[in-house]
Amino acid sequence: MLSAEIIAIGSELLTPTKTDTNSLWLTGKLNEIGIEVKLKTVVGDDKMRLEETIRDALKRSDIVISTGGLGPTEDDITRTVAARAIGRKLVYQDDLETDLRERFRKWGREMPEINKRQAFVIEGADVLPNPNGSAVGMAVETGEKFFVILPGPPRENQPMFENFILPKLRRAAGEIYVKRRMLRVGGVGESAVDEAIAPIYKLYETVETSILFNKSEIEIHLAAQSNSETEADAILEELAGKIIEKLGVAVFSRNGELMEEIVGKLLCENKKTVAVAESCTGGLIGGRLTDIPGASTYFMQGVIAYANEAKIKTLNVAPEIIEKYGAVSAEVAEAMAKGMRELANTDYAISVTGIAGPDGGSEEKPVGTVFIGYADDAQTKSFKTILPGDRYLIRWRASQTALDYLRRQILKTQTTE
Ligand code: AMP
Ligand code: MG
Repeated sequence: MLSAEIIAIGSELLTPTKTDTNSLWLTGKLNEIGIEVKLKTVVGDDKMRLEETIRDALKRSDIVISTGGLGPTEDDITRTVAARAIGRKLVYQDDLETDLRERFRKWGREMPEINKRQAFVIEGADVLPNPNGSAVGMAVETGEKFFVILPGPPRENQPMFENFILPKLRRAAGEIYVKRRMLRVGGVGESAVDEAIAPIYKLYETVETSILFNKSEIEIHLAAQSNSETEADAILEELAGKIIEKLGVAVFSRNGELMEEIVGKLLCENKKTVAVAESCTGGLIGGRLTDIPGASTYFMQGVIAYANEAKIKTLNVAPEIIEKYGAVSAEVAEAMAKGMRELANTDYAISVTGIAGPDGGSEEKPVGTVFIGYADDAQTKSFKTILPGDRYLIRWRASQTALDYLRRQILKTQTTE
């Protein structure tokens, strides 16, 4: 397997305000063709450190890709430093100067003399045209190594890489295709997921499987590698199918979709409507559901009933049950769901009441205690969960739990119909 290394050049990338995104994009592209990025470096506009970085990179890795520092100004040093690092001269190409002068003429300007620097390229390098900017890129074979020098702006280096470098690297990597798929699992822990599916995915040696925990769910990332694109797809399909069969309804997303997308799709397919009554989530569930285009076909109404009076006035929750059981209780969650459904006249309603913290917890009801209510035309019910995390995470997890509960209820009512 070929190894690659990326060098992001530019002093601005070493400040707290500017992030190197080029390496992320390049890594994605390289992974797709079965090339692994082993290392990346961010280096400022510093001749000595850049030269050292390029030399080291070419010792270690088969492919070295740099971005940035090809502009016409004093701080753009990549051209000269790269030439020195590999022991080659810079040669002047008058056709590049002609192109540059033409570019400037089109903009109605004279070319400043400093731009002449951009007509110099490393001797023996392939010149990579740049229709979106003034700096051409370069690709040099040096020893057994392949060194690609790209300009900094993504809109310039991305088409350059895709058009001139990617096809070449794909051939060098031996026509490898890597296809990816992500499943999302709710309501089960990371180790339980791994325990259940490790015996399955371990049999697939050409698939890289990773299991990650993300806020409130488990992500299963699958990357299948093959020399045929259709085969990579087929392997992925087969393995994903077996994992879904094993984990069952806990897999809420089969292709990386968000929970709110899945719930929306289910409501849409079943021609059902929903309303949400939220206390501690403060509109988060309604917000998430309405983030999805087309939500108006199934999302009818949301109420943020934060104060007791709001629960009583808007959702018709009886004051006595708040008095008797407290606002954070199964009884109030159910009354909220029932009241919401009647108010909005929907097929389903869900509700949330809980303690997001950091204050307000007690021994009986600690911070993180959340009740989810549910109502449809046949029943009203609720369940209690205690969610870990800070205020942000408790609220997020409560919204996720409520949406997952609704999802499971829709699936249940679907199969019994
Ligand atoms: P340069 O080629 O060094 O003059 O860079 C020109 C511009 O490209 C910079 O001002 C940034 O906006 C952008 N740029 C350079 N390097 C990166 C990077 N690694 N990631 C994202 N943007 C970059
Ligand atoms: Mg720069």
